This record gives sequence, structure tokens and C-alpha cells, in this order.
Amino acid sequence: MFEQVVLQYAFNALEPHIDEETMLTHYSKHHAAYTANLNSAMEKLTSFSDVSIEELLSNLDKIPDPTLRNAVRNNGGGYYNHNLYFAGLTPNGQGKPSGALAEQIDKDFGSFDAFKAEMTASATARFGSGWAWLAVKEDGTLFVTSTPNQDNPLMTGEGKPILALDVWEHAYYLKYKNLRADYIKAFWNVVDWDVASRLYEEARK
Ligand code: MN
Repeated sequence: MFEQVVLQYAFNALEPHIDEETMLTHYSKHHAAYTANLNSAMEKLTSFSDVSIEELLSNLDKIPDPTLRNAVRNNGGGYYNHNLYFAGLTPNGQGKPSGALAEQIDKDFGSFDAFKAEMTASATARFGSGWAWLAVKEDGTLFVTSTPNQDNPLMTGEGKPILALDVWEHAYYLKYKNLRADYIKAFWNVVDWDVASRLYEEARK
């Protein structure tokens, strides 16, 4: 059974950047539904019962039944992506990373501001529903990318995500209405760079 990440903060803790009603609906309805639907699909995939979500999403082509494969792609993606998104947020945002992740960002993007501009542009340009990512390639270099729907860089084989930015309308519409750019700007205030740094170190092992 896959379980939703436990939030380390209250639903209203990210105010005014992300509002309580959005957080409550996003976590308790949207993310809960992806998780329940993934668990239903897994009941029919008994041969995958011991597989981690990362392995599952990296090997979708090994699910023979196209309907089940699609269910795992959409709901397993929704489950994993939201776990990463919610775990990567904090009311005590540090503003920018430090240590090895900060050094690698400087190396791969030139500066933290250049990285932030690239991920902001990627998230803003995503047409319709999807995500923007900071992720690590197998050789340890960082890259920014965007995926539609509930896809992610594990599925495309590009690398392992360490920071997730949800740009589905359900992530911001109650507060920001059509102004996705304002939500993206606010997102940077609540990023937990300690979590991203830990995921970066883990991905490099
Ligand atoms: Mn979402």
C-alpha cells in the first residue's frame, strides 16, 4: 500500500504564499485520489507488489496491460509527484540552497538566479496541466525540465527529480485564479532547500 507523505506543517502554514483551502483540497482530495487509484491499480499488478514507486515509474513499459499501464502512469505519477511537491515545501523557506547542491547549481546554471529564471520559465511555458522539475542526471549534473499531466523525469528516463513545481490549475486557482506566474513567484518563498539538498545527495550515491 502506498501512503501519502505526512505533511511536516499545517495546511495554513504556507500562507500567504499558498493558501489553506488550496493546500487542504490539494492534499486531502487530489493527492488522496491519486493514491487510492494507484493502490487499486496495484491490486491487479501482484507481480509488482514489492517494487518501489521510483522503480515502478522508471519501468512502465514492463506493465503489459495498456489500461493498467496508463492507470499507473497517471495515478502513480500523481502519487509520487505530489509526495515530492508537498515534502519540498516549508513555512521556513531558506530562499536558496547551500552546500553541495548550491555549488552544483552554480556549476550547471551559472548562478542560483539563472537556475531560478530557467525553472520559472519552464513552469510558466508548460501548456495546460503539468510540472516543472529540478532533477539530477546519472552523471550528477543538474537540469530543469517540464512534463505534461502527471509524467515526470523518471518516466522519461532523464533523471531523478529533487524539486517539484506543480502547475496544474488545482495547485493555485483558488487564490491566484489565472495568474500562474504569481503562484510560481510565491512558490520560491516556500521551497525547502534542505529537502532538495538531501535528495540531491541521495541521488549522487
Ligand atoms: Mn497537484
